[in-house]
Amino acid sequence: MTLISNHLPTAELQALDAAHHLHPFTDGNALAAKGARVITKASGVTLTDSEGREMLDAMAGLWCVNIGYGREELAAAAAAQMRQLPFYNTFFQTTHVPAISLAKQLADLAPGDLNHVFFASSGSEANDTNIRLVRHYWAALGKPEKTVIISRQNAYHGSSMGSGSLSGMSAMHAQGGLPIPDIAHIGQPYWYGEGGDMDPDEFGLMRARELEEKIAELGENRVAAFIAEPIQGAGGVIIPPETYWPELQRICDAHEILLIADEVICGFGRTGNWFGSQSLNIRPDIITIAKGVTSGYVPLGASIVSDSIAEVLNGAGDFNHGYTYSGHPVGCAVALENLRIITEEGILDHVRDVAAPHLAQRWGALADHPMVGEARSLGMFASLALSPDKSARAPFGDGGAVAMKCREACFNNGLVMRAVGDRMIISPPLCITTAEIDTLADRALVAIDIAHGWAKSEGLMAAG
Ligand SMILES: *Cc1c(COP(=O)(O)O)cnc(C)c1O
Repeated sequence: MTLISNHLPTAELQALDAAHHLHPFTDGNALAAKGARVITKASGVTLTDSEGREMLDAMAGLWCVNIGYGREELAAAAAAQMRQLPFYNTFFQTTHVPAISLAKQLADLAPGDLNHVFFASSGSEANDTNIRLVRHYWAALGKPEKTVIISRQNAYHGSSMGSGSLSGMSAMHAQGGLPIPDIAHIGQPYWYGEGGDMDPDEFGLMRARELEEKIAELGENRVAAFIAEPIQGAGGVIIPPETYWPELQRICDAHEILLIADEVICGFGRTGNWFGSQSLNIRPDIITIAKGVTSGYVPLGASIVSDSIAEVLNGAGDFNHGYTYSGHPVGCAVALENLRIITEEGILDHVRDVAAPHLAQRWGALADHPMVGEARSLGMFASLALSPDKSARAPFGDGGAVAMKCREACFNNGLVMRAVGDRMIISPPLCITTAEIDTLADRALVAIDIAHGWAKSEGLMAAG
């Protein structure tokens, strides 16, 4: 077998990558022409590539490395568990200590009476579980016609057939026969882009009431659940107007439907609490988790459900669903160690009292830039909108070219920031220091300036 190591020249690694590796959400030929960036190591909030260049990772990997890179304790927990019991399944009336401990720990942390955990290996799998689980739940209660799940346009709930159908992304639905039957979508609470002349609070109420209208249109007897991220992540870090969630909660309470909060990003400290539901005062019946539960060191996802749902499920015979790696002992052991670190190192206090206020100040100031239409943050979650005419909240309408320039300039200046349409988004590791936040904001400003210069030279800015 060929030995492929970090010591090969970058160009050789890139050629091998292009020859054999199909990348997710990527134009293969475009990537092959350019060559993928090869990341070789990481520590704290800093990545190093195969050319020895360092980058501040303002995306925490892919929204997941909450406690930062290079934590020995997580490596040790994985190694110890692999030596003790590397794998055993949780089918057929067996269990093991890591799954028992993590289920108990999650039940203690989750809000309300969400005390029961169904394990998976990813957010996509956990949301697939949710689709089957809520339909099975209503069938067990004698209402098998309650099968429709309402989600939102521009939501992200995963990429499998089920979770990709819940996702409200038209580019995904255009390929592979999505959505599956009985999934409906309502509008998103994106005031900046879609609110027009409405006041944000009025717009928030209007978008929330689309849920009530959709329930009426479909018939309440057909609707099983509503699923939403407390704050949309991949859709562009869209922080909803203040009126939005209280109205959604009222509607969910007034109708016989379950509320699923997809906390895959919001969970485990991103908003300053264990769960985004706590920050936004949401009372879900089911929570989806993944990503930050292990800080991304190993894959793990889960659905956490209420006492009353668990009671119905447990009384309905076999639930014919599960994954080989449901409750994988190594994933559970790493998650437990990650949760211990978040707790004992006061990471939530650090987010609430230190990092989030500093980020809000430094990030908010980017709104003074002539090409930035808004710059907002909540906890360690932030986004800004690039605009050719900020007073009109105008979009570029260029398929995101200016934002891609900005992203490229970030990479070239030691910062990983993501582009979604006209929006630049970040979700840094929660352990980030105020000095590192300063570096992040300084580098972001440099990149926005470079993209602005390019937009002007291309004649993309509004006249005047
Ligand atoms: C990433 C994500 C998922 C999917 O998780 P995977 O582990 O990639 O399958 C689901 N929901 C939200 C909100 C996410 O951000």
